[in-house]
Amino acid sequence: MANQNRIPIPTLTRFANLYRVLQEAEAEGVEHLNSAQLEALTSISASQIRKDLSMLGEMGRPGVGYKVNLLKKRIGSILRVDRGHPYALVGAGQLGRAIANYPGFEDYGFKLKAIFDSDREKVGQIVQGIPIESNEDMPSSLLQKSIRIAVLTVPRNAAQDATDQLVAGGVRWILNFAPTHLKVPDNCIVRDVFLTPEFAILGHFTED
Ligand code: NAD
Repeated sequence: MANQNRIPIPTLTRFANLYRVLQEAEAEGVEHLNSAQLEALTSISASQIRKDLSMLGEMGRPGVGYKVNLLKKRIGSILRVDRGHPYALVGAGQLGRAIANYPGFEDYGFKLKAIFDSDREKVGQIVQGIPIESNEDMPSSLLQKSIRIAVLTVPRNAAQDATDQLVAGGVRWILNFAPTHLKVPDNCIVRDVFLTPEFAILGHFTED
């Protein structure tokens, strides 16, 4: 895989959580947070936070903590959410539209630039100012718009075909919501987002 020397996913997950909290703190005018306060806000242990941040060379000052804006900048640069990431959405159904209409992804630099659907009735409709394009135009449109990231919200049985078209259009990073395992070339990364197993895990903890 192309990015095998990158930071491990569990660490990135913790950084992403810290980034969200730091963003909120900065917006509220908080200047410093120590590891105990970050633990309370993220549920990541204070010792783990200190370990992760010391690996970045970030040392909190005793009695003061970490400087919120500097730490946010540093983590944002590692996560690369401090720059623009145009992305495409494939499948303008219920879930796809909910994602398209959610403004929060722009805080992380992810900007919706194209929407594709196979339903001729939907092609031409406008979502968030973007006209839905036919999935037949996907590879050429993606290449023309230089889009390398996609969110996949098509039915399971359409997911692999849509993925092949995305890859043909130069997409290398896919956030997949379709409940299926996608086959992609080695230089592509797929992150699956499946809520149903989370319900199952929650179910395990429930009591009669
Ligand atoms: P939906 O039927 O409302 O929307 C699917 C859309 O995909 C439709 O507009 C359809 O025309 C379009 N489509 C079908 N084939 C296509 C293709 N080849 N190219 C482009 N567009 C195509 O369905 P939904 O409720 O929005 O769910 C979408 C997907 O997300 C499903 O696979 C569903 O199982 C999944 N889902 C996942 C989670 C999760 O937790 N990961 C949660 C809800 C739904």
